[in-house]
Amino acid sequence: MPAYCYFILCDNNAFYTGWTKNIKRRFKQHLHGKGAYYTKVHSPVEVVYWESYGDDKIARKREVQLKKLTHNQKINLSRGRLTNMCDRLYFDKYNYFVNSPGRVNLLGEHVDYNGGPVLPVAIDRSVSLWANRRNDQQFSVNALDMDQNVVLTLNSIESRMDIQGNPLPDWALYPAGVIHIAHKQNYQINGFDSLFKSNIPIGSGLSSSAAIEIAFAALLREFGMWKMDNLQLALLSQEAEQRYVGVNCGIMDQFASANGAANSALYLDTATLQWQILPLPKDVAIVIADSKIKRNLATSEYNERRASCEEALSKLKEFSPSINYLSDVSPQEFAKFGKNLAEIPYKRAKHVIEECQRVKLAAQALKSSNIVEFGKLMKATHASLRDLYEVSIPQIDTLVEIANAHRSCFGSRLTGAGFGGCTVSLVLQESADKFMDDIKRDYYLNTGSEIEVYICKASNGVTVQWRNQTSSLTDGKSPID
Ligand code: ADP
Ligand code: MG
Repeated sequence: MPAYCYFILCDNNAFYTGWTKNIKRRFKQHLHGKGAYYTKVHSPVEVVYWESYGDDKIARKREVQLKKLTHNQKINLSRGRLTNMCDRLYFDKYNYFVNSPGRVNLLGEHVDYNGGPVLPVAIDRSVSLWANRRNDQQFSVNALDMDQNVVLTLNSIESRMDIQGNPLPDWALYPAGVIHIAHKQNYQINGFDSLFKSNIPIGSGLSSSAAIEIAFAALLREFGMWKMDNLQLALLSQEAEQRYVGVNCGIMDQFASANGAANSALYLDTATLQWQILPLPKDVAIVIADSKIKRNLATSEYNERRASCEEALSKLKEFSPSINYLSDVSPQEFAKFGKNLAEIPYKRAKHVIEECQRVKLAAQALKSSNIVEFGKLMKATHASLRDLYEVSIPQIDTLVEIANAHRSCFGSRLTGAGFGGCTVSLVLQESADKFMDDIKRDYYLNTGSEIEVYICKASNGVTVQWRNQTSSLTDGKSPID
């Protein structure tokens, strides 16, 4: 269930900060002197700002942070002043702002459609979505990065058209798909006017598409007051990508974008959907290196990998009928029965089965802050993606070799579906700048090509913020700061 942190402006010009599962009800309690001692003594005037999270655990943590802000920091947040000047332009026009992060997967590649465990991290690159609610069921979506706008209705979405009967551009399938699936599942749908942009590189393995889906799903949840947690939000968005966009994806990307946790990785069992937050050591940086090589063959190769996994699963089921996913097959069982598979399904299944074991070991390593062991597992994953799953390319292998040879690097590997895109490396924080300079230079010397390298911070999942644009909030010092 979504939970909110909020600021109430009180009659002494100070803020009261709290968290709740229902803002309207809570504000009424404050108005009647039954909310908190502070609002009993200083009458509440209005709610000037709130932000929502998928569950109350994160909201409670966030409340502690918000309570530590100074009066002026709270004013800045309420007015959207903490963002850059360009974004400020939109704050004046839109009440709602959604931030939905991309993700990088530390370990567990190509296992989320095989029931295996994964270890993604939501990152500080995200989709920014601004919106206002409408009183009808019309949706206007402006993709700032594409310089395109579409206007949709439920009917036009059903026939994959905009309101004028033009076919939808590819990018519009993501928001439209989320609206469509939510409508089919009988959720209350509210129209909106919106615009969005993103700094997640497209098609590089950092999941720009899921971040868009989760942004719009969170917005619709807010407007429709759906009682839905972030895991369900991810499942709805996955269904949109599978059934409306037409990509047969696993659940990891949407899950990470919805449920990310600051300074932590997420351990998700994609078969049971059980998950936990695993804090990352403070002295380790996550470095992304973007090869800028676009994944040309990705869709056909991805489908081929899925088909091989299915073939392996159905053959293995003949010997061990109780298995539902490749992730259920133990390495011992595979040693016994795997020889019955043809060469290609054998290699693909071997990767998946061993990768599942690596993720479990990696989670243990994280729990005991053993990053050296974690790094070794990342290196083994890369070798497996290269030799068994065959989704790497020579340039990415070169990049990974350069990174793994660096003394500050614990482990580096291809991340995402493969055939280009990004690598992820875990690096000693204090040497991260040098590491980035070194691999840039060495890759250029080896290949003559430039890469983009940056540090990603593990971040919280999707948030919705609301600002009261017509509030009586005035600048100035609070009597209590
Ligand atoms: P990724 O691995 O980055 O998720 P996908 O191929 O799954 O790659 O999704 C990429 C697609 O998502 C793009 O082709 C585009 O349709 C949409 N998309 C991503 N970022 C943006 C953006 N900033 N603006 C509009 N559409 C975007
Ligand atoms: Mg995607």
